[in-house]
Amino acid sequence: MAEVVDLYSMTKQELRDLCCSLGEKPYRGKQIFAWLYGGACSARDMTTLSKSFRETLAACTTMTLPTIAKKQVARDGTVKYAFRLVDGHVIESVVMSYHHGYTICVSTQVGCNMGCGFCASTVGGKARDLSAGEMIGQIMVAQRDLSCRIGNVVLMGMGEPLDNLEQVLKFMALANDPEGFSIGYRHFTLSTCGLCDKITILAKHNLPITLSVSVHSPFDEERSAMMPVNKKFPLAELAKTLLYYQGVTGRRVSLEYALIQNKNDSPAHAKALMELFSGLSYHVNVIPVNEARAGFSKSSREQVQQFVECFLSQGIPATTRRELGADISAACGQLRRQVQNEL
Ligand code: SAH
Repeated sequence: MAEVVDLYSMTKQELRDLCCSLGEKPYRGKQIFAWLYGGACSARDMTTLSKSFRETLAACTTMTLPTIAKKQVARDGTVKYAFRLVDGHVIESVVMSYHHGYTICVSTQVGCNMGCGFCASTVGGKARDLSAGEMIGQIMVAQRDLSCRIGNVVLMGMGEPLDNLEQVLKFMALANDPEGFSIGYRHFTLSTCGLCDKITILAKHNLPITLSVSVHSPFDEERSAMMPVNKKFPLAELAKTLLYYQGVTGRRVSLEYALIQNKNDSPAHAKALMELFSGLSYHVNVIPVNEARAGFSKSSREQVQQFVECFLSQGIPATTRRELGADISAACGQLRRQVQNEL
């Protein structure tokens, strides 16, 4: 028998092909897709299919969703989930409520190989990539649990999305599908630590998503010390790649900058960053570093404001990210570690 496939990882075309290979009409694929996103819990619920086909489908496919290992609700309404995957691995997702609706922060890998010094997700390295279906599952379970519609997706959870690009592209296509979650590409933000080769590939897909790049320092030596990826793709190459990306897609990019006290929060840093990315249209997203790892403390409110002002005074849009969920171990990777320690 063919390999058992998970239906949540399949596109409509793949479902059509599967139906044909099982001796059914291709349009059955579209029906299955509609059932997946319309609330079916198993192939046996798909009552527009013949009973015998439902049985066949149930026997040769799975429909696996993550289970909620732990859930925390912050006073501001932010909900953080530790999800357990089918093989026991634990990942995290966060749902935030903004005036324009619900946003989910999705994980793309179990752990991460990028090794950034301030990030909790990378401790212990990467166990494995997530499948597109496991990314869909995070939205599916959160929406059902909260009885809400999630309209925005940020790929900023655990993992490096561009280190799992194929599944991430598939996930976005599935979630974008009008019969999937119907989330427009403009409502996706993909965050990367700066894998230039993959940014170039992503550019060729020309999707109207927002690309967000974790910069955190405009100086190679300092950035390499915090982010090993910089040794492979130094800042000059990153800047050149982003210009290329913008030339192809026409999209403004977002630069993430975690402010670490007395390390990367000086006006000289802001100035060097503006020089580095001159010619690029971008928005700076300043985040006081989340104190998840030893040796990284957050800049004061005044320092944060001063840093933001450096950009605003030059006409460059810059904002401070609202710190949602501050009371619920909000830093990436923290809840997962708690759950793992309880096992
Ligand atoms: N791997 C991707 C996406 C996941 S991390 C990336 O590197 O962009 C999402 C964002 O959170 C990144 O900007 C990352 O640098 C940042 N981040 C990680 N740990 C953090 C911390 N302790 N404080 C503040 N931001 C952090």
